[in-house]
Amino acid sequence: MSKFWSSLVSQLKPYVPGEQPKMERLVKLNTNENPYGPSPRVLEAIRAQLDERLRLYPDPESEQLRSVIATCYGVSPEQVFVGNGSDEVLAHIFQGLLKQDRPILFPDITYSFYPVYCGLYGVESQLVPLTGDFEIDPQDYLVPNGGIIFPNPNAPTGRALPLVEVERIVAGNPDSVVVVDEAYVDFGAESAVTLVDRYPNLLVSQTLSKARSLAGLRVGLAIGHRDLVEALNRVKNSFNSYPLDRLAQAGAVAAFEDEAWFNETRQRVMDERARVTLAMTAMGFEVLPSSANFIFARHASQKGADLALRLRERGIIVRHFDKPRIDDFLRITIGTAEQNDELLQALKGLVN
Ligand SMILES: *Cc1c(COP(=O)(O)O)cnc(C)c1O
Repeated sequence: MSKFWSSLVSQLKPYVPGEQPKMERLVKLNTNENPYGPSPRVLEAIRAQLDERLRLYPDPESEQLRSVIATCYGVSPEQVFVGNGSDEVLAHIFQGLLKQDRPILFPDITYSFYPVYCGLYGVESQLVPLTGDFEIDPQDYLVPNGGIIFPNPNAPTGRALPLVEVERIVAGNPDSVVVVDEAYVDFGAESAVTLVDRYPNLLVSQTLSKARSLAGLRVGLAIGHRDLVEALNRVKNSFNSYPLDRLAQAGAVAAFEDEAWFNETRQRVMDERARVTLAMTAMGFEVLPSSANFIFARHASQKGADLALRLRERGIIVRHFDKPRIDDFLRITIGTAEQNDELLQALKGLVN
């Protein structure tokens, strides 16, 4: 606290990201990074940018990137917005589209950045409890609201909502913007991008941080009706005209161009997820069905906080949320086969 802080800053409760420890040789399964690394073509494209052109500002509209994304999803470039990570895209969405007269709706258990943006931008919210099985029930979202946002698959549960259910929420709220945060969609869920041409109130956000393994490059995107995208452009151009630097634009274009790498690595993550789920279930864990690159699991007789601590003593870090309903769960990122083996080995020792 300082007397120089604005009252807004004094009241903020900022997001706390998963730790990025400096220690080497850790099995780091706490922030849902992709263990396989980006396509070699991404690295090549970034290297090709490393010259005196860095003195120039980048393309403020990221036209090439938006056009590659548009082609990839069968939409027009005017329906595509890009930003410095999807966190920035989401921030603009909260400020430009979700600050309305009525409270917005999101699940009680979800991405913990949403309440933080509400605090930053003065957006009122109402939490909608997940069902006892930690699922989103579309029926619960058919009530008056100022907007709706949820991740699909949800985080940190990993559970996906089938596309028809997503459509029920979108179709049932024609006067609200419905934002589907698809950070993990490429690990086994159905994207709602296929619906954007039919629903002018639907906005889908995605990131290159997870399935495309570029968390360090900071690129996120949103796809929707051009009027929604125009709102985001107005916020962006009132905030930072150059959110994506030259390296990020070049690397992101190359990431979308190497579909083989994308498909191969996400398939490997999904295969490993199935193997880890099976092994942990055999050890007495309840593992929620996951369509993401992490699993959310609790043990029948062990406290989540204890397990997280004891894994840590063995050099394995996972995420534990000290929150009602989920404090016995661990959120574990799917790592390489070797990392997953180390995890399973350690868990076996701890639960026996
Ligand atoms: C990781 C994540 C994001 C943010 O991704 P960035 O593009 O790295 O900012 C957004 N939403 C959810 C649900 C996430 O898990």
